[in-house]
Amino acid sequence: MTGLRQFRYVIAGSGFFGATIAERIATVLGAPVLVLERRHHLGGNSHSEIDPETGIEYHRYGSHLFHTSNAEVWSWIRRFSDFTHYRHRVLTRHKGRMYTMPINLMTLNRFFDLDLTPAQAAGFVGELTAREAVTQPRNLEEKAVSQIGRALYDAFIRGYTAKQWETDPRTLPAETIKRLPVRLNYNDFYFSDLYEGLPAAGYHAIFDRIFADRRITALCDCDFFDVRDQLNPEALIVYTGPIDRYFGYRCGELGWRTLDFEIERPPVADFQGAAVVNYPDPDVRWTRIHEFRHLHPERRYRNDVTLIMREYSRFAGRGDEPYYPIDTRADAGRYAEYARLAEAESRVIFGGRLGTYRYLDMHQAIAAALRTFETKIAPHAAQFAA
Ligand code: FAD
Ligand code: UDP
Repeated sequence: MTGLRQFRYVIAGSGFFGATIAERIATVLGAPVLVLERRHHLGGNSHSEIDPETGIEYHRYGSHLFHTSNAEVWSWIRRFSDFTHYRHRVLTRHKGRMYTMPINLMTLNRFFDLDLTPAQAAGFVGELTAREAVTQPRNLEEKAVSQIGRALYDAFIRGYTAKQWETDPRTLPAETIKRLPVRLNYNDFYFSDLYEGLPAAGYHAIFDRIFADRRITALCDCDFFDVRDQLNPEALIVYTGPIDRYFGYRCGELGWRTLDFEIERPPVADFQGAAVVNYPDPDVRWTRIHEFRHLHPERRYRNDVTLIMREYSRFAGRGDEPYYPIDTRADAGRYAEYARLAEAESRVIFGGRLGTYRYLDMHQAIAAALRTFETKIAPHAAQFAA
């Protein structure tokens, strides 16, 4: 490929981390930047597209809900799109009945067939959790039972977690479940951030706008490792692919879960009445079903068809897309070795979900990229100019 050598800034990966860095380099430094993307579309896992058969916008890698309490991130992203006022809710289907998720007073009262007030519920849950006698939760299971007790854990968490991770929940980090609040009131919002909404014209429109900057050259279907020897040896590289792959897996493979998505177009106006329904029971193989029309109630979609997506989880092999870092203790040890190698790598910055082996929401990936630009890339540019 000709011309690659002219770029002093090269980014491997066009997800939110790579896209944010590219935008900063182009607009703040005014410098040309090359973005290499292995897939045939830009935007990484946040990519969305319009389904040609139904006209419904769907998120190719599962529902992506934008939420943040970070004012800087909120203001950055709204430069590329208006946002709707959508607030996310999730239902969960256990033994043929629907419940609200995260677990709230509705879930509790329905599950135990009670009619408790918030104060009564606090006492009730206190009794359930006291039986578990967990004072310092060290893993996902201990964290969950210390918050909700064994019966709710068995119904709503154990089976879902078994499908999602296929890993003993006593070896999974407590942080994984900390993302889910437990509420003893009827608030059923999935997130509690200050700002929430969906891009009015879709995530693809955000990436179209970012990459429309003529100082950014973005190449799809282009793996960084295939063109690496054609790049300028002086270039500063921002690598957002899997860190273990970068180092040829020399410290061992990091554990990842991948997902299979199965799309169906049932000929009905509404399949499940909600954007996301979780399936915690072990006799159902999928973890959840997304129905994307519900993400945009403000749009006029067709009434004779809808689009749903079943999500299945499994261990990722080298040929699969890595989605969720499993992050067992062994993984954490291995990642620490890779992080040491990464530090010694001059001219390469590792970032994003895959490059830092961390589950990052979109707003966290953007925040991390803005910080990386300020602390590592802008100073590098100043030094270069001096
Ligand atoms: P990615 O989006 O993964 O982008 C990395 C890019 O690098 C990919 O496009 C990949 O193809 C490319 N790449 C890798 N290796 C190479 C290489 N060698 N050469 C060239 N390109 C390469 N976040 C939320 O805030 N809300 C949600 O509701 C939400 N839901 C999610 C649901 C699922 C199922 C998943 C998996 C994630 C979800 N996320 C959600 C997280 C969100 O996807 C991430 O925060 C975001 O994608 C992180 O951006 P990134 O740039 O770090 O990584
Ligand atoms: N979880 C669960 N039951 C649910 C939803 C979540 O057990 O109905 C657990 C599961 O272990 C999951 C974790 O909580 O991996 C975090 O859930 P979240 O919805 O944040 O996961 P994501 O949307 O990132 O897949």
